[in-house]
Amino acid sequence: MKTPEKPRIGILGAGQLALMLAEASKTLGVDVICAGQPGDCAEQVAEVVSVNLEDAAEVAVFAASVDLVTIESENIHADVLHGVNLYPNARAVGIAQDRLLEKQFFHDCGTGTAPFAPVDSLEDLHQAMGKTGLPAILKTRRMGYDGKGQVRLRNVEDAAGAWAELGGVPCILEGMVKFEVEVSLIAARARAGEIVFYPLIENRHRDGILRTSIAPFVNPQLQQRAEKYLTALLQKLDYVGVLAVEFFVVDGTLLANEMAPRVHNSGHWTIEGSATSQFENHLRAIVGMDLGSTESSPTVMLNCIGSMPSEQETSAFSQIHRHDYGKDPRPGRKVGHLTFPASAHEAIAEWQARLQD
Ligand code: AMP
Repeated sequence: MKTPEKPRIGILGAGQLALMLAEASKTLGVDVICAGQPGDCAEQVAEVVSVNLEDAAEVAVFAASVDLVTIESENIHADVLHGVNLYPNARAVGIAQDRLLEKQFFHDCGTGTAPFAPVDSLEDLHQAMGKTGLPAILKTRRMGYDGKGQVRLRNVEDAAGAWAELGGVPCILEGMVKFEVEVSLIAARARAGEIVFYPLIENRHRDGILRTSIAPFVNPQLQQRAEKYLTALLQKLDYVGVLAVEFFVVDGTLLANEMAPRVHNSGHWTIEGSATSQFENHLRAIVGMDLGSTESSPTVMLNCIGSMPSEQETSAFSQIHRHDYGKDPRPGRKVGHLTFPASAHEAIAEWQARLQD
């Protein structure tokens, strides 16, 4: 489908990813409109229309009002996306929103993962433990994020409790891997098939939530291997837009954990750290523009979880770029992030310590 000169992009969702996409749209000359609820944080910079994202008819009406549609969350049911002019396509989103399909797809593309087995009953769970070994993590196949929908199993006696805790929904069991480090790779693929990569990023989590991203993670061999894996994924899906894949580094090799068919938290540093941010490159890809350079300088991002430090506190540090999403404070909620040049060692150490609370 041909896209008009000043395309109107509809984003399903109006949270912080939509907010940062809308900010990037301003310099590109494209219009962004978000489907969400009044009060969602993207409202600060873009029009937000009220749409129930679980209602196929409402999503279809929204999609018809714009030139093309993208997403800020993969947890939108694939059925709702049917018939929508969607970038990336519904197949990619459908795979990314189901941990079992996602793991199988990684294997189809020649990418290793932690050992895993599908679990649809307590009996399956007992069998799965034999396959993955213990300790292991039981994860819901759908709707899991930021460590939600996951229970760790240390011994066989944990099985019944874990199964009950997740509500008996379809799950997968994954063997716990002893990783050296967690990394992610972010790529963008244009409509014409051109692919650009950012450098590998080291990610540190606590309680299942990303706390720190450090770019670049310098390992030319792993960079090359990760780029090869993502190239296969992107081409097999005929993917258009930004894709992020999270990996565990185990014994010097990469095991894929999950993929996000959208801009990703571990790429927020690209706003200041790269010639073209992940947000701009996503928009460029989906409207059919050439992609921008991903040349990057060493950068660190710290997530603000639960509450945002005041402007007064951060203003004492000249190297901080402060991103406040304008969300109400709530335990475990991502409310903003701080970006630093990697050379700002003292400021980074101080803020890492402060944000632990
Ligand atoms: P996920 O929601 O799958 O990204 O999991 C959240 C975090 O839990 C990951 O970033 C890891 O730190 C940890 N985790 C998840 N799966 C595994 C696994 N199979 N082995 C070890 N750690 C894991």
